[in-house]
Amino acid sequence: MSPPHPLRRRGARAALALAALSAGLAVAPLSAPAAPQPTTPHTAAQRDFTALSRAFVEALWRIDPDAALYAGRYEGSGRLPRPDAATRSARLAFVTDWQARLAALDDATLGIHQRTDLVQLRNKLAQDRFELEVLREHSWNPASYSVAGPIDLMLQTRFAPEPQRLRLLLRRIEGIPAYYEAARQAIDRPTREHTELAIAQAPGNQSVLNELGRVARASKALSPGERRLFKTRLSNAEAAVDAYVVFLRGQLQRMDAEPGYARPFRLGGALYPQKFNLEIQSKRTAAQTYEAALQAREQLLAQMDDLARGLWPRVMGGANPPTDRLALIGQVIDRLSERHVARADFYPEIRRQIAELQDWVRRKDLISQDPRKPLVVRETPVYQRGVAGAGIEAPGPYRPQDRTYYNVTPLDDLSPAQAESVLREYNHWILQILNIHEAVPGHYTQLVHANRSPSLVKTLFGNGAMIEGWAVFSERMMLENGWGDQAPEMWLMWCKWNLRSVTNAILDYAVHVQGMGEAEAMDLLTRQAFQTPQEAREKWRRVTLTSVQLTSYFSGYSEIMALREARRAQLGDRFRVKDFNEQLLSYGNAPVSAIRSLMLDPTATQ
Ligand code: ZN
Ligand code: ZN
Repeated sequence: MSPPHPLRRRGARAALALAALSAGLAVAPLSAPAAPQPTTPHTAAQRDFTALSRAFVEALWRIDPDAALYAGRYEGSGRLPRPDAATRSARLAFVTDWQARLAALDDATLGIHQRTDLVQLRNKLAQDRFELEVLREHSWNPASYSVAGPIDLMLQTRFAPEPQRLRLLLRRIEGIPAYYEAARQAIDRPTREHTELAIAQAPGNQSVLNELGRVARASKALSPGERRLFKTRLSNAEAAVDAYVVFLRGQLQRMDAEPGYARPFRLGGALYPQKFNLEIQSKRTAAQTYEAALQAREQLLAQMDDLARGLWPRVMGGANPPTDRLALIGQVIDRLSERHVARADFYPEIRRQIAELQDWVRRKDLISQDPRKPLVVRETPVYQRGVAGAGIEAPGPYRPQDRTYYNVTPLDDLSPAQAESVLREYNHWILQILNIHEAVPGHYTQLVHANRSPSLVKTLFGNGAMIEGWAVFSERMMLENGWGDQAPEMWLMWCKWNLRSVTNAILDYAVHVQGMGEAEAMDLLTRQAFQTPQEAREKWRRVTLTSVQLTSYFSGYSEIMALREARRAQLGDRFRVKDFNEQLLSYGNAPVSAIRSLMLDPTATQ
């Protein structure tokens, strides 16, 4: 449940990294939104670009079958790529080749949508080169090697009849021993944190292999020879996973014995800014974004102080307010959090609110919606339930006919105390903000609009800061336009929620670049940002296992806010909320920095 939600609509790399984060069974990653048709090209150069970007994507699927599989293309899924030096040099050669081809293009001959596609293609290649040559996560992140995700996806997705899928899987699992052998060879000075994560993931890998064995045994379509092969290959695969764990335990022992052997999990001041530039694609640097987050935090706390003082007599009765601002805000939030739905009403209430939000957005005319593509609110399918949660599941670019779901995991599996903690966190006000963020007019509405200027490139390689930035921006836009009747309680809870995004950005930079430690981080998250100890512990873990992604929410949000103010200044009386929202989303998931140039430039044409 705890948004910010890292699992949404990403390319294969992020999906794998995040499958790693779920630390057990890799949940099938949510794939990209439906958007397969390119816009109609007008000139020869534009037709050439369309052909070239298609050729790139097809070539990418051939060289990276796992990325293809996560995008919904399964032709190569019978092959498990061996993560060895030869594969890495082939990928680097691929990057070099395509960088040269894209460098030869003249941006000026392209329309707006193709220019932003080109930005994303070039950035994708630059990111891949950075990973292969500079970041080299394959050498220090043992959790980047996991066989469960693709197998699970091939078992759960009906892309072909079951016997055909099982035969593809029979081929794939043959490569598992060589896969882990290559992993052991590649690993050199791993981090302790990622080593421990990889060990914790091993049972998830084994359970997916067990599940595959169960399905294979139950299948009537396999020949006796195929069944025997399944048995042999599965036991070899299980042994390979066990051997990998033994190897990783050896690495931990070496870390204990040899000070300095473990690589620090912190990215450091040299790597972090480079990764930030490639991933966030902001006009601001990492350091400037951090400074902006500190300022935003101070503004939020000042606003929360005002709101909490105003609410104090009504909410807290005759007690004297504490002089410490953080204590005062924290006590009011704590008391307000007692207002929440009953455990059994969690799912029905979300379902009810989505309809209400859609109706409200229509009456206020804030952004157009598409009644022909309704959002289906449902309980999360059992096999996808890892953590309590709610989030959008959109069909991949190759399955536009599929529905978009808003999955809500019911609280059934939680103890009474755990359920109470979730319900207090998603209290009366925050639950509404969550639904705005995830669904209307957040991620779901954004998908509907992105599909109107369909771009396979931006669907596959869209900018995460734009995607999260819009969802965070939409929360504020709704409240500004009257959702919640300007109640101080609603604004106070919005501030708390927004402070989470801002604090994510501060934490990420402070930990990875400035060396902030765990105790200081816990204080930042709990006392200074009003999070529960449980939420703070999960966040600390996340920041030790990922970098930069935590800044995407604040970076995207603050850049969209700045763009809106610039647009308002440019248009004066002619500024309309709906026009701004729809124009912003019409560029697909291009980076906000690229959208800004196009939106504010009066000479830019389609
Ligand atoms: Zn309660
Ligand atoms: Zn989100």
